[in-house]
Formats: sequence, C-alpha cells, structure tokens
Amino acid sequence: MQENQLTIALSKGRIFDETLPLLAAAGITPAENPEKSRKLIIGTNHENIRLVIVRASDVPTYVQYGAADFGIAGKDVLIEHGGDGLYQPLDLQIAKCRMMVAVPKGFDYAAASQPGCRLRVATKYPDIAAEHFAAKGVHVDIIKLYGSMELAPLVGLSDAIVDLVSTGGTLKANNLEAVEHICDISSRLVVNKAALKVKHTLIQPVIDAFAGAIAAEAV
Ligand code: ATP
Ligand code: MG
Repeated sequence: MQENQLTIALSKGRIFDETLPLLAAAGITPAENPEKSRKLIIGTNHENIRLVIVRASDVPTYVQYGAADFGIAGKDVLIEHGGDGLYQPLDLQIAKCRMMVAVPKGFDYAAASQPGCRLRVATKYPDIAAEHFAAKGVHVDIIKLYGSMELAPLVGLSDAIVDLVSTGGTLKANNLEAVEHICDISSRLVVNKAALKVKHTLIQPVIDAFAGAIAAEAV
C-alpha cells in the first residue's frame, strides 16, 4: 500500500455523473471523462489521486481488497456483496431509487404471495429477494439474471421480478406494475478499513468534503 497515494473506485453512468459534484467539493477534478475515454485508470488534478473505472457491482470488491482505497457503490450492490472489510461512513444521497417487487398487470400478487405459496422470481439481486420472501413466509425459486429483468415474466420465465425502480417508466412500457416496496436505495461511500487507518490524513478530508456537500444539498 502506497501511503501517499489515493485510488478511488467509481463506475460509469449515473453514479459517475452524480459523483462529479462531490469530487469537485473535495477539490478533485478528473483529467478525462471516463464515458469518452477507454482508459480504466484516470488521473486527477492531484498527482497522488487517481480514479479507477470498474463495473458498478465490482466497486466493493476493489475496495475490500485494497486495490482502491475507497469507492462509491449502490446500497443494492453493497447488500449483495455483504460489506466485508468495508467501512461505510456516508449515505451520499445520489442514484436514489427503490427495490421493488413487480408483476405483470392483472397478476393476482396478493393471492400468489400468501404464506406457504410458491413463487418464481427473476432478479439480479438473489440475496435481497430471498430475504424478502423468507420474511413473508413465501417459498421462492430465484432465477438469477444479469439484466432486463422486465422481460422474464412476459415470456414465462418467472411470475415476478425484484428490481430497482425510479420513475416506473420501464415497468409501464412492459405492462408490469410494482406491487411491493422492499427498501430504498442510494449510493454509499465505502472505504477500505485498513486504508482508513493508514491514510487517515488523506481520506478524512475527502469524507468531510463529501459530507459538507451533501449537507449543503439537503438545505
Ligand atoms: P450495468 O448497467 O453495467 O449492467 P449496473 O446496472 O449495475 O451495471 P448502473 O445501471 O449504472 O449499473 O447502476 C449503478 C447503480 O445505480 C446501481 O447499483 C443502483 O444503486 C443505482 N441505480 C440503478 N438503477 C437506478 C435507477 N433507475 N435510478 C437511480 N439509481 C439507479
Ligand atoms: Mg444498468
């Protein structure tokens, strides 16, 4: 571990866009836009701070093993990862959405989700889905998918899906409806526990700047 170097793991897309103002509050400006660049390691205006661009669901893994000192990951990804070796000091209040159960319009979910019933559920989030239905006493066959969950009930792969919903536009376009709210999701700052100790003087000011930016946003 290089004690005077900071490596930050970020994913492209909405998390990156919504993270830029937080980085700016901490005085960090990326040298390139990862959306346009093919580079996976991107420098910043600080010689000792760099960004690594990884898949959203890989952020906790890079931070857990110390390949990145800290990163930003959705709570959905963190629940599935388990959070081992990660300190989670801040809810960044970005990339907000809800984890929901959705079914085709007209499907009698109330009847199909009685205790003792059996339901086929397609999802990218098997742990979250399993825990949710276990708490309700509903038996589930979880079908793990990596994307386009909305398709599964339309072609008979599953009865229901567990997925992230923000506007509900995708559900509506596919004749599905959200029938149960599992939890609210937003992105969190995740810090490698060892790095927080060893690089405290580098990391703490970034945490404080992020916290300040969120507090200002909340006013
Ligand atoms: P990929 O699209 O490469 O398969 P991904 O779906 O995990 O990866 P994104 O779609 O960029 O990546 O989502 C990243 C994070 O943004 C998710 O982990 C979640 O926390 C949050 N997110 C996902 N969908 C929404 C949404 N509709 N609205 C707001 N935040 C969302
Ligand atoms: Mg996606």
